[in-house]
This record gives sequence, C-alpha cells and structure tokens, in this order.
Amino acid sequence: MRSLIAVFVLGGLAFADAPDAGRVVDSRAAERLEMVERYLVSEGIRDAATLQAMRTVPRHEFVPPNLSDAAYENRPLPIGLGQTISQPYIVAYQTEVVRPRTGMKILEVGTGSGYQAAVLSAAGARVFTVEIFAELESSARTRLERLGYRATVRHGDGNLGWPEEAPFDAIVVTAAASHVPPALLEQLRPGGRMVIPVGSMFGVQNLIQVEKDAEGTVRTRYLLPVAFVPMLSGLR
Ligand code: SAH
Repeated sequence: MRSLIAVFVLGGLAFADAPDAGRVVDSRAAERLEMVERYLVSEGIRDAATLQAMRTVPRHEFVPPNLSDAAYENRPLPIGLGQTISQPYIVAYQTEVVRPRTGMKILEVGTGSGYQAAVLSAAGARVFTVEIFAELESSARTRLERLGYRATVRHGDGNLGWPEEAPFDAIVVTAAASHVPPALLEQLRPGGRMVIPVGSMFGVQNLIQVEKDAEGTVRTRYLLPVAFVPMLSGLR
C-alpha cells in the first residue's frame, strides 16, 4: 500500500502540466516501478522525463492478454502479425535519445502496440505515429484513445514520413531500415534529432542517432547494437 501511495504522489507532482494519462494508480504500479529501477535506472537511463513516463505508462495494457504476466519483464513480446513490442530498456533508451518535452512534436514510425507513442506522449510530446498494418493501426488507435494518450495514429508507410505534419522536433523509428529514409531526414526540423535502427533483418543492426543542426548539416552517431523487426514497404 505504501508504495502505491508513493507512486501517486510522485506522479502527481512531476506531471502537474502533463496529460492525465498515466496518473492512474493501477494494480501493476509496483511491478512497473521495480521494472524502472531494475532495468532502466541501474542500466544507465537518466533522463527524468523518460523515467517518469516509463513509471506511468501501463505496459500490460499494450501486450496480448495471455502475455500480461510478462509485461514488466525486460523483453520484447509478440503483438501479432509477426511484430513485437520492444523491450522496456530499448523503449526508454530511444525515448531518452530524443529527450521528449512538453510541446515537442514527435513522429514515430512503427506504431505497433502504441506503447512507444504512449511513452512519448506521457513525457509531454504531441505524437504522430504511422503503422503499415491496418489491423495494428486500428487497435493501437483504439487503445491509445481508451487510455487517454495524445497521439494521432495513421495507417501508412513510414518511409514517407508524414509530410502534412512536418517538420518534427524529433523522429523515433522502431523498425530496422536499410538506410535512413530521405523523407524522414527532410522532415526533421533543424536542431532536431532522430533515432533509428539501421541494418538488415538477419545481419548486424545498429541504433543510430541523426542530428540536424541549425544550418541543416546532418551528423550521425552510432549508439548500440540492436535487433528490431524490419521496416516494410507496401501497405498491409
Ligand atoms: N513501437 C512499437 C513497436 C513496433 S515493432 C511499440 O511500441 O509497440 C515495429 C512496427 O513497425 C511494427 O508494428 C511494423 O508493422 C511497423 N512497420 C514496419 N515497417 C513500417 C513502415 N514502413 N511504416 C510504418 N510502420 C512500419
């Protein structure tokens, strides 16, 4: 009981001006706090907004009901159609790279379950997220609405970005591309940051940070080796 009260107080304080989503204390809150300490804080995730978002978003609502027990373990889980929800550490890592803050406009490519979008939204960002499978898009949209997260979901090919909403302060790609899609680079605001896994399905993949400075010069930086599902093309 004591830890549940602590969660509520912390959540209320840190999120005075953030969306209501995530303030709810649910029956899995203690597990979630433990997940954050064990797999994120002790593994070097530092950004306060990222950690707070990870403490509030109910990951168990984003996984299939039969896998709910495993929702707070540090591993990816299948979400149907051969796709996965990333492990919590990777979600937190990608979130920390783009440093979401209140009012930032962020594009996500690869909505999947909607979990990463919810985390970015809980950190205060306005999120636009694109998913190539109609079925995943509609279930993520329904889920995000039900849970009260500010995210606009669209069925589309994320290789093309979301030109009507560009430019974005940050872009988070959650499927592995063979190269950085030019449209995404173009839709990144000067001063903005993108985080994207680059590599092949069976070969090496690396998480890459792409920064565009005020003059429009692009710098890339290797972050860490990863294993993502591949970026697809052609609507499904
Ligand atoms: N961010 C998700 C995990 C996504 S897994 C979450 O938090 O649950 C990668 C997702 O990218 C899958 O749902 C896959 O269908 C989607 N995807 C693959 N290629 C895509 C593309 N070209 N455009 C948009 N989505 C794509």
